[in-house]
Amino acid sequence: MAETKGKVITCKAAVAWGPKEPLVIQEICVDPPQKMEVRVKILYSSICHTDLGAWTGVNEAERAFPRILGHEAVGVVESVGEGVKDVKEGDYVIPAFNGECGECRVCTKEESNLCERYKVDPMKRLMVSDGGTRFSTTTTKDGGSCQSQPIYHFLNTSTFTEYTVLDSACIVKIDPNAPLKQMSLLSCGVSTGVGAAWNTAKVKEGKTTAVFGLGSVGLAVAEGARARGASRIIGVDANASKFEKGKLMGVTDFVNPKDLTKPVHERIQELTGGGVDYSFECTGNVDVLREAFLSTHVGWGSTVLVGIYQTPRTLPLHPMELFDGRTITGSIFGGFKPKSQLPDFAKQCMKGVVKLEPFITNELPFEKINDAFQLLRDGKSLRCLLQISKFLKK
Ligand code: NAD
Ligand code: ZN
Ligand code: ZN
Repeated sequence: MAETKGKVITCKAAVAWGPKEPLVIQEICVDPPQKMEVRVKILYSSICHTDLGAWTGVNEAERAFPRILGHEAVGVVESVGEGVKDVKEGDYVIPAFNGECGECRVCTKEESNLCERYKVDPMKRLMVSDGGTRFSTTTTKDGGSCQSQPIYHFLNTSTFTEYTVLDSACIVKIDPNAPLKQMSLLSCGVSTGVGAAWNTAKVKEGKTTAVFGLGSVGLAVAEGARARGASRIIGVDANASKFEKGKLMGVTDFVNPKDLTKPVHERIQELTGGGVDYSFECTGNVDVLREAFLSTHVGWGSTVLVGIYQTPRTLPLHPMELFDGRTITGSIFGGFKPKSQLPDFAKQCMKGVVKLEPFITNELPFEKINDAFQLLRDGKSLRCLLQISKFLKK
């Protein structure tokens, strides 16, 4: 906006100071956007399991504190840095943790969405252009000193703050008349799940699927498979409360590992007479990945891994098992190229091809962010939407 353009903004953010420490809502300073960067006022943000993973800090190599987490959001452009052409002040946007520069060897080909410059990198904590941060605090946590301290970025986005700065490659312009709260879901969970079904597995009509983990990501896989006409969608979750929601997303059969005396894959083999055509691992658990792999049909079964694995363990497969003709592949952001493919996906969602509304199970004010984390940890929410900034739509 004209009055803040080019100036440092002081605003509220939820800062993670250490693994599993409650986030602290505090005043921070947000620098103006540099070359090819955009400063965005965040309107709504929700919490994805990947935020929980970074916050718990299980993977020590990825730890970086203090840090502003969050990557699933919707906002409005406050100002743009030098050279930014595709968005302007006042545009409604969603952040994309897996960016698209449009020019690199990957962006210029159809095969992959893993942009060489801005693909998701859990280790990354600084801006590309100058290796600095755009966030800082003017007092240390205990308030004892007045030294400014840098605060790290997260997943190319950092959305648990009233204002954030992103590379312009990591934002997607959306229709200002679209339902903003629902558009925030396209920033991660729903695009990741639906895209895993549509772009990575390429689920076809009449085929069978098994989805392991019925959080937002797994349920979005189910919704994507339903929209593509899958004949059977088997949902697997250790939390039976997820099954009710699953019915809305087209899940036809439920398997709770806790109710079984045999491995889940044996149950799925029985249910389907030999295994499913596609399976999706959406829990982030390596042992579950093996169950998902063995649940597919010998000869052509295809497993897509979507979960993020905090463990140093490697793939739980013997190489000879691949001679059974099953395949296994990973999917980041559902294989979508954000800038070039998400606007069309958003249109399809608005037409009702994919239902978005059931994914928002809770709404809370920004100040209650720690309660929202707890809801996800306890398996009591799909997406809890936080209202980050008050705003008036023009
Ligand atoms: P979530 O916590 O909402 O859902 C996970 C579900 O898995 C829960 O319902 C839980 O009960 C179930 N579960 C956990 N362990 C299980 C087990 N052993 N057996 C059966 N069910 C089990 O999480 P989410 O936000 O839906 O994210 C799911 C995963 O996807 C996470 O690992 C997240 O980091 C990852 N993710 C990946 C991408 C990507 O681009 N690849 C994007 C977003 C999220
Ligand atoms: Zn996510
Ligand atoms: Zn690129």
